[in-house]
Amino acid sequence: MIVVVAVALVVVVLWFTLGVRAKDLPEPEPVSPIKHLEDKKARIYESLRDLNFEFRVGKLSDTDYQRTKTELQKELAGVLADIDKAAPAPAPASNTKQDPLVCPHCKARFDKPMKFCGQCGKAMETRS
Ligand SMILES: [Zn+2]
Repeated sequence: MIVVVAVALVVVVLWFTLGVRAKDLPEPEPVSPIKHLEDKKARIYESLRDLNFEFRVGKLSDTDYQRTKTELQKELAGVLADIDKAAPAPAPASNTKQDPLVCPHCKARFDKPMKFCGQCGKAMETRS
């Protein structure tokens, strides 16, 4: 009898909790195009952590550990490469950032930003 009551209680509590949660849930977050890749990366990191732990407690042989670790790292490298491909690099332009005081054509430098180069006469402004 007690078991039945306990089970019923658990079911009610679970139903209540899940019911409330589903209702309170905000609309799904905007899904990032690399969300699944990020998830995959997180899973691999977790696996690596688990693997390290199992190795340390002696559940894995050294060869098993090395082999699995290599496989995971290979997978991780693939996922990271996919993320790099999927996500446009945040600021590739920062490397080639145009100095507004330097002419992009003749590299003449001026004290203040100008529309046209005083040296070669070409437009100083480049697409920003
Ligand atoms: Zn110039």
